[in-house]
Formats: sequence, structure tokens, C-alpha cells
Amino acid sequence: MLKDLHILQDLQKIDLVIDSFQNNKEEFPKLIEQFNQRLGEEKHKIEVKKQALLELEKKKKGLELDLSDKEEKIKKSEEKMMLVKSNEEYQAMKKEIEMARAQNSFLEEQILEVMLQLDEVKNALNIFEQEMSNSTKVIEAQKKKVEDDLSHLDELLMGKKGERETLLKDLSKESLSAYNRLRTKKALAVTETRNGKCVGCSMSLPPQFYNEIQKCDTLRFCPSCQRILIYTPTT
Ligand SMILES: [Zn+2]
Repeated sequence: MLKDLHILQDLQKIDLVIDSFQNNKEEFPKLIEQFNQRLGEEKHKIEVKKQALLELEKKKKGLELDLSDKEEKIKKSEEKMMLVKSNEEYQAMKKEIEMARAQNSFLEEQILEVMLQLDEVKNALNIFEQEMSNSTKVIEAQKKKVEDDLSHLDELLMGKKGERETLLKDLSKESLSAYNRLRTKKALAVTETRNGKCVGCSMSLPPQFYNEIQKCDTLRFCPSCQRILIYTPTT
């Protein structure tokens, strides 16, 4: 078999790996950015829920202050009531105190309701934080893997480029330039033939031409997709 055909096949394998490395070099920083964004979003979701909890606690405190304020006033009114001389005045104050007490029991109900809401929100927040910490761990692990891969890419690229250089030493200039010309147009410059067809474009090759390809003695190109054809025996 023509040595160049072998080399071209290997060269293409290496070039495809180099392509994917180069693609990763562009894509990985974008991926990392996406991971960071997702982590930020998860954090934000927790912040929003914590804020709701704070608001409820504030509401509860406000109601409690209001209640103790009103209780204090009732106490004072009761003391004053003891000193009142006329019955009319006494009845009026008594009514006032009863109203204040009714208002207070309404306040107490509100406080209870807020406390129940607080319990609910706290429980939900606990579950949510647990879920978030799990998904955050997954995202962080994914991010770390991409960062690690990215940090090794240059090294891997250098290795593959070295392998490429070694291969090129034994490749003829004509074969290389045919390969390069095709590679600028298509990802695959070299393709196999199988059962009388070009694997690159699936076209059936003329039988006479297919017989010639089997000789593997020179570069032959697919009449349809122009790729360099390599004969693969049917197994
Ligand atoms: Zn073809």
C-alpha cells in the first residue's frame, strides 16, 4: 500500500483530535461561565426565600410590639378606672377596655398565624437549602472537571502537534497539499470505501474505478465529494 495513504489516515485522526481540542479551548471558558451563572442563580433563589423569612419575622415583631403596647395601655386604664368616681365614667372606661381587649385578641390571632407561616417557610427553606446544596455540589464538580480539562488542553495540543510533525516528515508534498486543500473545505479529507461506495458521501463508485482503488498505489479522489479514497476490505 502506498505509504502516504497510511500516513494520511493517521494524520486525519490526529487532526480531528486537534480540532476537538481547539474547539474545547473556545467552548470550555463559555461552559465555565455558564456554570458560574447557574451557581449565582441557585444562590439568588435562596436569598429570595431568606428575604421572605426576614419579612415575616419583622411582621411578627411589629405585631408583638403593638400587642405589648396595647396591653400596657389596658393596664394603665385599669388602674385609672379604680380611681374613677362617677358610675358613668366607670362604665365608659370599662367599655373602652373591653374594646381594647378585643383588639388585642385579634392581634394575638394574627401573631399565631404569622408564627405558623414562619414555621412553614422555615421548613421549606431547610428542604430547599438541602436541595440547593446538592445541586450546587453537582454543578461545582462539573465546573471543576471542565477547569481541569481546560488546564491540560494546551499540553495535550502540544503533544498532538508533535505527533503531527513526526508524521509529516514521511509524507510527500503532493499528498500533503491535496490533503490540506480538502481539509480547508471539509472536516474529513480522507474517507474509506466500502462495498463499492464512498463512505464520505455514500456514492456508488464506477466498478472499474473501484477496482483501481483496491490497488492502493496512488491517491484517488471520489468523483462526487472529492475526498481521498482509501480501500477497506469488506469483512
Ligand atoms: Zn465521496
